[in-house]
Amino acid sequence: MKKANPFEEALRTFDKAAGIMGLDSDMAKILKNHERVLEVSVPVRMDDGHYEVFKGYRAQHNTAKGPAKGGIRFHPDVTLDEVKALSFWMTWKCAVVDIPYGGGKGGVVVDPSKLSMGELERLSRRYIVEILPIIGPNKDVPAPDVNTNPQIMAWMTDTYIMHVGYPEIATFTGKPLELGGSKGRIEATGRGVQYITREALKYIGLEPSKVRAAIQGFGNVGSYTARFLVEDGIKVVAISDAFGGVYNPNGLDVEDMIRYRDTHGGTINGYPNGEPISSDDPLFMDVELVIPAALDEVIREDNVDKVRAQVIVEAANGPITSEANRVLTERGVFVVPDILANAGGVTVSYFEWAQNRYSYYWEIEQVRSELRRFMTKAFHNVMEVREKYNVDPKSAAYILAIERVASAMRLRGIYP
Ligand code: GLU
Repeated sequence: MKKANPFEEALRTFDKAAGIMGLDSDMAKILKNHERVLEVSVPVRMDDGHYEVFKGYRAQHNTAKGPAKGGIRFHPDVTLDEVKALSFWMTWKCAVVDIPYGGGKGGVVVDPSKLSMGELERLSRRYIVEILPIIGPNKDVPAPDVNTNPQIMAWMTDTYIMHVGYPEIATFTGKPLELGGSKGRIEATGRGVQYITREALKYIGLEPSKVRAAIQGFGNVGSYTARFLVEDGIKVVAISDAFGGVYNPNGLDVEDMIRYRDTHGGTINGYPNGEPISSDDPLFMDVELVIPAALDEVIREDNVDKVRAQVIVEAANGPITSEANRVLTERGVFVVPDILANAGGVTVSYFEWAQNRYSYYWEIEQVRSELRRFMTKAFHNVMEVREKYNVDPKSAAYILAIERVASAMRLRGIYP
């Protein structure tokens, strides 16, 4: 089945929540549009001397509550509508956890695995020069996303600094520690998923020791999530990445799998201690908990009937379509929405930005306890809305977020 347009898909979730909460139509109209979208061309000199031109985007959906915030993705499937959807989600994600940002996102249409380090560096730097007029610590603060990492943030930060002429490091988050990164930023999304999963299991009355989990994705989010679920006594029985995966009913040794991945070209495909499975298999396994931690629209109308889990925690952005979410809700599956479940990354990005701005750095214990406070509070705020309106958790998270952003906009008024 063909993937739906991701932005139209995102609007469907918004419309549903807006309808339930009775959002006025003028406000809805404004919130369904982006403040600013930039398309750029990124010429890069390749190692053999010829030039390639890559297409890049940066979208800023809404800045009513603060600078735009959101990652930069390098992926061959990046499209304008995907970047628009992702920045739209960032607005609601930041609002759900109540951090002072709006929503932004960027992407470059490229397969970075085909680039040398030098080509990757030149691509990263040139892309930043192209979007430079619209980014900055008070305007729009990018961060890592799919296939981008602290080293790439370091090149981007340096490029920004070379252009403005002073060491403004708060323009990017997810930087290496030596360059003003925050302790705990790398693990942050996985940590957030752990805290949210704890609360979700408590809320529906499932004992972690009786929970078996299957995870799709073994990049930054999937691997830290797997590690932290095991820490909480959950048995992780299946993990996959883009190339394949492994199932072991006795539980997987996550640390060993991380070592395997790091010494086998970045994939766990072929990992020996279990039965080989496909990339999508974890989504449909007979387990209590499923965690999609890779890309969007993996659980859709055409395959939702195969889902057997009781709880799904959306660690990726947009892994379940609105129609699939409706079917799952009807069946009584408890779906923890992405804008809540994976907000740990951007929350620690906020801590990083705040630390940069007052040049005082926190210990890891402080990062974790503050993250836990933000995530736990957001979870309970969402559940209060869920109970008040008697809706599914995704609609509840949107209602909460839309209410927060809309009320900031009403107070400011629409200029002029
Ligand atoms: N890319 C992450 C996300 O989708 C983090 C964004 C950030 O830290 O700004 O939430």
